[in-house]
Amino acid sequence: MSPPLLLESPNRKSFPISLAPAAAEATAVVSASRLKCYMTCRRQFYFRYLLGLKKPAGAALIVGQALHRMLEIWNHARWHGDNASLATTPERFEEEWQTIVEAQPVAWKDDKDEPKQKATALRLWQAWLANPPIPVDEVPEGVEVFLEHEEVLSDRPKIVGYLDLVRAGGLLVEFKTAARSTPADELAHQHRLQLTIYALLYRESTWQQEKGFQVIQLIKTKEPKIEVFNFPPASEKDFEELDATISAFQQGVANGDFSLSPGQHCSWCDYRTECIAKVATN
Ligand code: SF4
Repeated sequence: MSPPLLLESPNRKSFPISLAPAAAEATAVVSASRLKCYMTCRRQFYFRYLLGLKKPAGAALIVGQALHRMLEIWNHARWHGDNASLATTPERFEEEWQTIVEAQPVAWKDDKDEPKQKATALRLWQAWLANPPIPVDEVPEGVEVFLEHEEVLSDRPKIVGYLDLVRAGGLLVEFKTAARSTPADELAHQHRLQLTIYALLYRESTWQQEKGFQVIQLIKTKEPKIEVFNFPPASEKDFEELDATISAFQQGVANGDFSLSPGQHCSWCDYRTECIAKVATN
């Protein structure tokens, strides 16, 4: 049986065949963010990955990037036996913040938004330094590790991912920033595909099973909070779910399925204007 032609099925009228190369490219490499985007809303995936529409970064993204960067520097300093607190002073935070905001357009709400967001991020960073949930003298096994699964190893496509931190014994750590606390079971469910991808990549590159996962949430409440959640290693069922999701993603894109998934997530969708205009003219 010949493989399905890209964009040959139902949505072809709205999504022309000229987008076939972009569709093939968008599925050639699988990452947690692509999978999550497609599974959240196929139309959003279409705007972001097929049309390549760029949008200014939101304030929440900038705060997340700044804290990730400080964590990266802090972890690297520990790795090299340097003083992690001295490497991540408020002056260094200021430098990193400037680099991040100058590298991209940002959609600040008004003139007061940037200083307010910066103060929130710095408060959170100082809360981390005052009481880090990871011992400062514990040497990491890896920091910001880029891993990829080569398609020749299995039926899976190429899969890529960045591990924020690998702690002793193969404990895979993911840092998140959030506006509020999330119950542990909900958090595990929300990040299940992403963590399973990390388990797959870690196992293939080390030939050993991960010890488990740790999700560390930096919560942007008035009084900053840091919450640590531990989860067991990925199970066979997790890998089955991952494979089923990758397959649905690849087939969906190949079939030109970029249908709408309206819901609460539309409130923070970057492509709301384009989406509403497109629906109106369909
Ligand atoms: S506005 Fe809603 S339905 Fe439209 S692309 Fe965004 S998430 Fe999807």
